[in-house]
Amino acid sequence: MTKIAVIGGGFAGLSAAYMLKERDITVYEARDCVGGRVQSVPYAGHTAELGGQNISDGGSSPNIFRLVKELNLEVEERPATIHIKYHHHDGWHTIPKLAVKEAKGASVADRLAQLLDPHTGEYEAVCRLIHGWEGASPDKLSGEMYNDTLTHSLSGGISSVHPELSFTHQSIVGGNQRLAHKMAERVNVRLNSPLKRIEKQGTQYALTFPNEKTLFDKVIFAMPPTVYHDIDFCGTIEEGRLNEIQSIELGDNFKVIVPLNSGGFESFAIANERFVTFRSTEGSLLNIFYCGKAPKFPDDLILLSDHYDIGGEKPLTYNFADDPYIRGSYSFVKPGQEKMFTELEGDCKKLFSPIDNSLFFAGEHTCTNFDIMGTMEAAICSGLSIAQKQIVW
Ligand SMILES: Cc1cc2nc3c(=O)[nH]c(=O)nc-3n(C[C@H](O)[C@H](O)[C@H](O)COP(=O)(O)OP(=O)(O)OC[C@H]3O[C@@H](n4cnc5c(N)ncnc54)[C@H](O)[C@@H]3O)c2cc1C
Repeated sequence: MTKIAVIGGGFAGLSAAYMLKERDITVYEARDCVGGRVQSVPYAGHTAELGGQNISDGGSSPNIFRLVKELNLEVEERPATIHIKYHHHDGWHTIPKLAVKEAKGASVADRLAQLLDPHTGEYEAVCRLIHGWEGASPDKLSGEMYNDTLTHSLSGGISSVHPELSFTHQSIVGGNQRLAHKMAERVNVRLNSPLKRIEKQGTQYALTFPNEKTLFDKVIFAMPPTVYHDIDFCGTIEEGRLNEIQSIELGDNFKVIVPLNSGGFESFAIANERFVTFRSTEGSLLNIFYCGKAPKFPDDLILLSDHYDIGGEKPLTYNFADDPYIRGSYSFVKPGQEKMFTELEGDCKKLFSPIDNSLFFAGEHTCTNFDIMGTMEAAICSGLSIAQKQIVW
């Protein structure tokens, strides 16, 4: 029987393995738990999502909902209409909806500077909104790829998936990581097993882990592009292609989570020059999305207490950029990377097309639906696509 290895136990790797569970397949996960950038932890009597929270950031997310149903999980949801308030020069302001004029430029920052005065608080607030959503600051984002995000951020929304700031937050009851656990229960998973080296031996691949060296017929790489630097590929991926994959960055935003004494449905989010806020799905926790800047406590919490009744528990945080097996939040397209990310070959991005019908690529960064790249749905979509269309039985 064909032996298959999956490298990475996030949503992408697990969904591929789950679909192929009748096969001889093993998931190797570097860390001591599955879920990758989806981590749900108990906090202040609630479930906090340190990473992926809103499953509808992938639009209607048909692949997530299919798995949720199949694995007897439930979804909770909370509709919200959000108005962005920003703090500038000691006062609170609201971002007005702007009639968007067309702007040109390599980066989102180039385009935004033609539409808003860069010295204003309004400009800063829109920058943080875009940074919080796409993961990276507007100067690092391709103007062409993120023109929709720019347009929607200025006209009262956030992206083509959320064109208005009225949307429904949806999460899995008990935590999104439960989906990873449920899939992992049905497949063979080895934790604490970072891939160190892969080498071709005849028609097979020898994979080296700290405690094991094993031969496989097919391998699915489902780890983030940021960790490719740490693996010795021994020529299994041609150098030009490997360099391009290694040039992909993940964003630098991360969450600090605080409890709220009073629940309810907010009608605003807060932005300043460091962060933008969103509530958790059931409304009792506040996610403060820091955009590459360190928190300033207690100043930031004092500022937020103008609008929120914040509980006394120690703020909870996890920065995936410091995790050696993730190194960032989610992928984004830099100016100049447009072709690399959009060129297709069959059902795949050309950059991630299979090699010799035996090496495959999955992960949110490989998803061919550009509107949802960077999301949990993108990760699952990529995993299922490998399993359904690309692996020859
Ligand atoms: C702060 C934050 C907020 C987010 N919010 C949302 C949201 O609200 N909605 C949404 O849809 N998405 C959100 N996301 C994005 C979403 O969580 C990710 O896009 C998705 O989970 C990525 O899944 P993946 O399987 O592609 O990668 P990962 O989850 O990163 O999985 C890859 C796995 O590979 C493992 N690995 C790495 N190196 C090796 C190795 N050498 N050997 C073996 N294993 C290895 C890693 O440990 C990891 O478990 C958020 C992410 C972050 C960080």
